[in-house]
Amino acid sequence: MATASHPPIPENVMTPEAALKRLLEGNARYVAGEFNDRDYSETRAVLTQGQNPYAALLSCADSRVSPELCFDEGRGDLFVNRLAGNYVSLDMLASLEYGAVVLKAPLIMVLGHTECGAVKSAITAEKDHFDFPGHIQTITTQLRSAVKAAEKSGGDLLAATIVENIKINVDNLKDSTPLLRRLVEQGKLLVVGGLYHLDSGKVELVA
Ligand SMILES: [Zn+2]
Repeated sequence: MATASHPPIPENVMTPEAALKRLLEGNARYVAGEFNDRDYSETRAVLTQGQNPYAALLSCADSRVSPELCFDEGRGDLFVNRLAGNYVSLDMLASLEYGAVVLKAPLIMVLGHTECGAVKSAITAEKDHFDFPGHIQTITTQLRSAVKAAEKSGGDLLAATIVENIKINVDNLKDSTPLLRRLVEQGKLLVVGGLYHLDSGKVELVA
């Protein structure tokens, strides 16, 4: 966390594992309701000097998922990219590359969540052959492979599709060329998948 007494020196110069530990410790504080104290007016001036987020996120846009809140972090700590269905589009990949390469965040987390409406829509589109209006169908098309994978694995289709979608997009980021795959191979970047539970607030690592 950047504070007035600590200008934004590269706090993200940490191992990917340390970044993941910090992220999950913040989530534990959130679950317990024990938030760090923050003075937003003090940090505002400091952050005009730069940003050093230690983690980049590809989160669903769902209004019930708030990454800065659920990881108990302030401004400048997380490079948050949000899209309904938390999948890797070309624009999202470019933005995450910016986070990892230019801002040097050593960690990327794909953050899905329980009861995801985008995933429900993808299942409806697949099962009922329903066409959503406008550009919404783009989302369901992108999530189709997750629905297919979940159908094979059995069990609750919604829960399974949500997890498959996280795993697929973690793999897509790890394999993406030319930038992210190289950073992963060099051990400079960790790509993980988190499942945010709406009921408990806990982020479970699923990939
Ligand atoms: Zn969602």
